[in-house]
Amino acid sequence: MPQTVASSVRDPDQLVDELRLPEEMRAAAHRSAELFPLLAPRSFLDRIEPADPHDPLLAQILPVAAEEDSVSGFVADPVGDSAARRAPGLLQKYRGRALLITTGACAIHCRYCFRRSYPYSEEPRRMEDWEPAFAEIESDPTLHEIILSGGDPLMLTDARLAELCERIAAIPHITRLRIHTRLPIVKPERITDQLIELFRDCGPTPIMVVHSNHARELVGDCAHTLRRLVRAGITVLNQAVLLRGVNDSVAALAELCGTLVDLGVMPYYLHQLDRVAGAAHFEVPEETGLRLVDELRRLLPGYAVPQYVREVPGEESKLPVVGQNTPWRAGVREPPGPVVVEST
Ligand SMILES: *Cc1c(COP(=O)(O)O)cnc(C)c1O
Ligand code: SF4
Repeated sequence: MPQTVASSVRDPDQLVDELRLPEEMRAAAHRSAELFPLLAPRSFLDRIEPADPHDPLLAQILPVAAEEDSVSGFVADPVGDSAARRAPGLLQKYRGRALLITTGACAIHCRYCFRRSYPYSEEPRRMEDWEPAFAEIESDPTLHEIILSGGDPLMLTDARLAELCERIAAIPHITRLRIHTRLPIVKPERITDQLIELFRDCGPTPIMVVHSNHARELVGDCAHTLRRLVRAGITVLNQAVLLRGVNDSVAALAELCGTLVDLGVMPYYLHQLDRVAGAAHFEVPEETGLRLVDELRRLLPGYAVPQYVREVPGEESKLPVVGQNTPWRAGVREPPGPVVVEST
C-alpha cells in the first residue's frame, strides 16, 4: 500500500485518542464503523481541531450513533442509480452526459454519502470489462460528455486513468471529460503535475468538479492544489452538500463560497442531502436551505452563489429546490429598508 494510504485513519480508537474526543463517542464509533468503515486521510485529519466534538470537518468522517437510526424515507438507493445503468459501470440519467463508475474506492468515507450502500463489486475492474460501456458510448452520438465518477476516480492509478482517457478521447462525439473527485480537497498530494498534465493533454476539454463543504477544508496544500489546477487551465467547480452541523449557517456557506471563488473555483451546486439510510441526522429542511441561499444572494456576487438542487429519481436534471412559500415567489418578502441618502 502506498504510504499515503497507510497514514489514513481507519481505527475508531485511534481517531478518538488522537483527536481527544469524549469517551462516550468511542462505542458508537465502533458500531457505526461496522456499517460503513471509518476512513480519513492524514491531510484531512490535520485540519480537524482536536478536542472539539462539534468540528465541522470531524462531523463528516466520525461514525456516530445516529447512523443506526432507521428513519422512514431514508433508503439504500435514494437516487435511482440501479435504474439508470446502461452497461456495467455506465450510468445515464441526463441527456448528453453519462457517468462511469470507475471504482468503488474513496480516500475518505463521508458519513452522509449516498453511495454508502452502492453495489460497487458488480462494476468493471479490468480494462476489457469496460468494453460494453465504451461500445454503448460509441454507438450514441447524443453523448458529448463523460463523467469519471465512483467512488473517486482519482483513486485509480495514473496508468489506468491514462488508458480510460485515451479510450474516451478516441470517441469523436465526446468533447468534454469531467472528473468528479474529492481528492484535491481531502488528499491534495494525489494531484501531481503528471496527473494534471494527463487531463490537460487528454483531448476532450477537462472539467474538474471537486467536493468541499466547509472553508476550513480549503487551506494549506488543498488551497495550493486548487490554484495549480486552475493555473493549468482546468475549469474547477465545487459541489457541496448542505449538512446539519457542518455548513448549515449563512456564515459557513458565505465563507465557503467566498474562499472557493478566491481560489478560482466556481461554486456549482449546493445539494440537498440525498435521503440515504443512516444519514438522516445530516438533513437540513429545504425551507431552511432556501433561506440560507437567499441570504447568500444578498451577500455575494451572483457567480459565487451555487445552485441549490436536489436529485429526484426519474427527472431529466437535478432539480432546483423551490419552496411552496418561497417569499420572493409569493411576493411577500419584506421590502428592503428605505435607502438613506445622507444630505450634506
Ligand atoms: C448528477 C449526475 C450528473 C451530472 O449532472 P450535471 O447537472 O450535469 O452536473 C450526470 N449523470 C448522473 C448519473 C448524475 O447523477
Ligand atoms: S468522496 Fe464522494 S463518493 Fe466518496 S464517500 Fe465522500 S461523498 Fe461519497
